[in-house]
Amino acid sequence: MTKMDALWAPWRMEYITHAKRQKGCLFCRVVKENKDKENLLLYRSRYAFCMLNKFPYNNGHLLVSPYRHLCEMDKLNRDEVLDLFAVLSKMQALLKKILKPDGFNMGINLGRVAGAGIPHHLHMHVVPRWKEDTNFMPVVFSTKIISQSLEALYDQLHKRI
Ligand SMILES: [Zn+2]
Repeated sequence: MTKMDALWAPWRMEYITHAKRQKGCLFCRVVKENKDKENLLLYRSRYAFCMLNKFPYNNGHLLVSPYRHLCEMDKLNRDEVLDLFAVLSKMQALLKKILKPDGFNMGINLGRVAGAGIPHHLHMHVVPRWKEDTNFMPVVFSTKIISQSLEALYDQLHKRI
């Protein structure tokens, strides 16, 4: 086992066991539950919402999704498309202001083969990037640090929306 595997193993295990434990669609569940802080649901708009990714690729990794449970872009109506992109740009601006990244990766994985963890409910990723962040990521993101920083980050972003 390499040093990198050892650092990432606890994180992966939590992801696998967590995914198995949860039944149904994560996005539909958090929207219905009304436990926004606990579920890291950051912002609700009319047709779309934003939540922190509990298993982030990087600090500040957000997910933006329509409320409706659907998996194809062309199934969204015009209002949903507009709101989805309005929330997306609002959240990107928020991250820019608070975390001051050097850039962003933003995108959609459609279908499990393309890397979608939850293929049946469309969601867009907003991932802030810093120069050389790939170098410190494996060192910084142990399980404990992720859960602490997620709560702190939620509060930090939430009060600035
Ligand atoms: Zn859903």
